[in-house]
Amino acid sequence: MSKFDSELVLRMAIPGPLRRIFDYLPPSGCTSAQLQPGLRLRVPFGRRVLVGVLLEVADHSELAPQKLRRAEALLDSRPILPQELLALMRWASRYYQHSIGEVILGSLPTLLRQGQAAQAKTESCWQLSPAGWKTDPGDLKGAPKQAALLRILQQHPAGLDAPSLNREQQNWRPSVARLQQKGWVTTHERECALTLPVETDSSKTGAPTLNRHQQAALDTISTQLDRYQCYLLNGVTGSGKTEVYLQLIQKILAAGRQVLVLAPEIGLTPQLIQRFRERLGQQRNGQVALLHSGLSDRARLDNWLACAAGRAGVLIGTRSALFTPLPNLGLIILDEEHDLSFKQQDGFRYNARDLAIVRARKAGIPIILGSATPSLESLHNVAQQRSQMLLLPERAGNAQRPQLRLLDIRHQKLEQGLSAQLLSRVHQHLDDEGQVLLFINRRGYAPVLMCHDCGWHARCLRCDAHMTVHHGQQQLRCHHCGSQRPVNRGCPDCNSGNLHFMGAGTERVEDTLASHFPATRILRIDRDSTRRKGSLDSMLTEIQHGAPVILVGTQMLAKGHHFPNVTLVGMLDADYGLFSADFRASERMGQLLLQVAGRAGRAERPGEVLIQTHQPDNPLLHFLLRHDYPSFARTLLKERAEAQLPPYSHLALLRAESPRTEAAMQFLQEAKQQAALIQPQLLAFGPLPAPMERRAGRFRAQLLFQHHQRGELQQWLARLMPQLENMKSARKVRWSIDVDPMEMY
Ligand code: ADP
Ligand code: ZN
Ligand code: ZN
Repeated sequence: MSKFDSELVLRMAIPGPLRRIFDYLPPSGCTSAQLQPGLRLRVPFGRRVLVGVLLEVADHSELAPQKLRRAEALLDSRPILPQELLALMRWASRYYQHSIGEVILGSLPTLLRQGQAAQAKTESCWQLSPAGWKTDPGDLKGAPKQAALLRILQQHPAGLDAPSLNREQQNWRPSVARLQQKGWVTTHERECALTLPVETDSSKTGAPTLNRHQQAALDTISTQLDRYQCYLLNGVTGSGKTEVYLQLIQKILAAGRQVLVLAPEIGLTPQLIQRFRERLGQQRNGQVALLHSGLSDRARLDNWLACAAGRAGVLIGTRSALFTPLPNLGLIILDEEHDLSFKQQDGFRYNARDLAIVRARKAGIPIILGSATPSLESLHNVAQQRSQMLLLPERAGNAQRPQLRLLDIRHQKLEQGLSAQLLSRVHQHLDDEGQVLLFINRRGYAPVLMCHDCGWHARCLRCDAHMTVHHGQQQLRCHHCGSQRPVNRGCPDCNSGNLHFMGAGTERVEDTLASHFPATRILRIDRDSTRRKGSLDSMLTEIQHGAPVILVGTQMLAKGHHFPNVTLVGMLDADYGLFSADFRASERMGQLLLQVAGRAGRAERPGEVLIQTHQPDNPLLHFLLRHDYPSFARTLLKERAEAQLPPYSHLALLRAESPRTEAAMQFLQEAKQQAALIQPQLLAFGPLPAPMERRAGRFRAQLLFQHHQRGELQQWLARLMPQLENMKSARKVRWSIDVDPMEMY
C-alpha cells in the first residue's frame, strides 16, 4: 500500500460486469472542494472512455500511484444522486451480488448514462416588466395588436410560453418584440412543465366519501407518517384501494413532501394516470411525473429531473422508478404487490418490492403494499409482525362481489376451448347488454402444428419448444427466443398435406367467437394486438364506452383495469397452474384467477365468473370460489413450511448457459465444490439441466442454494462470488446469480 502521495483518489462505479470499485486520480485542475459522491466523471477504461459515478473520495489507493489513471472530466457541478440513494444502491449491489457500476449506471436515464447534461428542457416565457404593468393598454391607440397582447399578459402575472401565446393571439411575435423594445415586456427561460395542464372536470376532482374500512385504513396510516412502517393494504378487487392512496397522497403533498407510486407496467394505464392527475393537479406540488418504458429518452430525463429537483410531488412508475432521487420523499406505495413484474428477470435481478421496503426503512417513512391477492411472502411478513395488515373486505360503492362457479369440462365437447355452457352464458350476457371478458393464458392461433399422418410437429430449431402458429396460417413463432418462419404447407417428414392445428390461443378463440356472434364487436387484447403504440389505449377507451363487446385476452386483461360494464368473465383453462414444476405455480394461479374474476361486476350490475376446469374437486379451487383467499394462502403457506421453501427458507439460483452441451454443467459442478469448501453445511441442489434445457441455441443448467437464514446465505454468497469469477470454467459459460429467484428456470 502506498500512502505517500497526497493526491486524492476517486473511488468510482464503472458500468461493466465486474463486482468491484475502480480507483482514479481526479481530472487535472479539479479541486477537492468540487469532488463529492454522486457526481459523474468521464474516465478512461481499457481503450474506451466511459461515464462513471463517484462513490467516495479517499486519500490513498491499494494500487501503486503510477498505476492509477486520471479521470478525464467532471460532468456535473452538483451530485446527480444523493447520498441516501447511493447507499441504497450499494446495499442492493451487495445483496443481489451484482456489479455496483451496473446497478448505479443502469438506474440512470439513458441520456445521463451517456454523459449529457443533467438539465431539464427549458422554454421561453414572456412577462410584463414593472413599466408594462403601469401602462394602460387603452393608450396604445395606433397599435391594437400590441394593446391586446398587453391586456393578455396583464391577466397572466406568471408569464406565458409560446404555445399559450399561440392560443391567445395569431402572429404575436412582432408585437411582443415591439413591447420588448419599449421595455414593457421581458423574456426568460424556465423549465418546462411535464404535461399540459389537465382540463379539470369538477365531477372527477371531488373525492368520494370513504367507507368505514377505507377510512380506518387511512386513519391508521395517517397517525404515523413520520416513521418507517410497512402496511399490507389487502383489499378485494374494487374495494377502493386507489381511493385510499389518493386521499393519503393529498395529505403528504399538503405537508410539502413527495410520494413514489410503483405499479406493474400493465397497471399504468392512461385511465389511472388521468385519475391521479385530475385529483392531484390542483394541489400545491401536485405535478405528477411518470417513468415507464413507453417514454422517449428526453421525456424520461425531464421526468427524472423534475423529481430530483422536487418540482414533481408525485412519481408514478414501474419497477426501475424506485431508483429516482426524491429529496422530500414522504411515502412509498407499491400497488399490486404480488405482481411478478416487480422482479427484474435479467441483468441486475432485483426485486423492487423488497428494495422499496429497504428504501422506506432507510428514509424513515411508511410504505404501503397493496393487493387483493397478497404474495405469500407479504402475508408471512404480517404473521411475523414485520408488517401491518389493513383490510378492505368489501367492494366500494354499490358494487357486489361477483359469483364464481366452476364449469366441469370433463367429457364435454369443447369448441376451441369453449364449452357449450360458457357459450350460452356469453349469449345471455350480451343479450342483457353486458360486456364479456374471456381469459386464456396463451396468445397466437394454436400452440402446436402437427402432422395427422406421421406425428411430426413444428419445433423451434434453437429451443426445446414448440412453435406457435400465428395469424391464421401465415407464421410460426417461438415464444421463447422470438425466431419465426412461414407455416409449413406440407409435412417436411412425410409430405402429407394433412397438417393440424392443435389447441387454441387468443387468435383462434377470437375466430370461433366471431362465427358464433357475427354481430358483436370482439376485441383481442394480448401482446401481439397491442404492439402498436396507442392501440391498447384505444381499445380500453372503447371498453369504457360500455357497448356490448367480447374481450378475449391474456394476463394483460387481468390487472388493475376498471371495466364497469363487464358482467361475465370466463376463464378457459384454470388447470395449467395446477401442474407446473415451479413451486409458486399454485399461488400464481390463485392470484390470476381472482384478479381476472375481479374484472366482473365492478359497478352497479352484478358479475358472474365461470371457470372451466378438469379438476372440479380441487380443494384450492374451492377456496377461491368462496373468495376465501386467506384460507387458500394459509394452505399453501403450510405446504411451503413443510417443504422448507420460501418464505420459510431463502434461495439463490446459480444459472449457467453455453452453446456447448457440457460446459454449463461442468461449471456448476465446480461451483458446487467451491461452495462446499466455503460452507460444508450449505444445501446445494443440482446441478440440473433447466426445465427447458435448450433456449436460443444455448444449453442451460442451474444449481440451487438454500439456507434458512438470509444473513448467512448472504455472507457465503459474498465469499463465493469472487471465486467463481476466477474459475477457469467460468470463462466458457455465461453465468449469473439470482438471489431470491421468483422463477425457477
Ligand atoms: P381498487 O383500487 O381497490 O381496485 P378503486 O379505488 O379503483 O378500487 O375503486 C373502484 C371503484 O369504486 C372506482 O370507480 C372508485 O371511484 C369507486 N370508489 C372507491 N371508493 C369509493 C367510495 N368510498 N364510495 C364510492 N365509490 C368509491
Ligand atoms: Zn407427416
Ligand atoms: Zn426458440
